[in-house]
Amino acid sequence: MAKIPEAINRLFKNVFVCKNCQTKIRADPQKIMRGRVRCRKCGKRAFRPIKRK
Ligand SMILES: [Zn+2]
Repeated sequence: MAKIPEAINRLFKNVFVCKNCQTKIRADPQKIMRGRVRCRKCGKRAFRPIKRK
């Protein structure tokens, strides 16, 4: 199966990982940057983009 950029975008775009408990959350990047998104598990606001390892 070839990689389909569109599919990758759909899957990984707007998805962030909680730095504290590694929970994945889909949210608007602007909201993340403004600190409006909270982890549903631990309630923290520290997120990073999912692509980085
Ligand atoms: Zn968390």
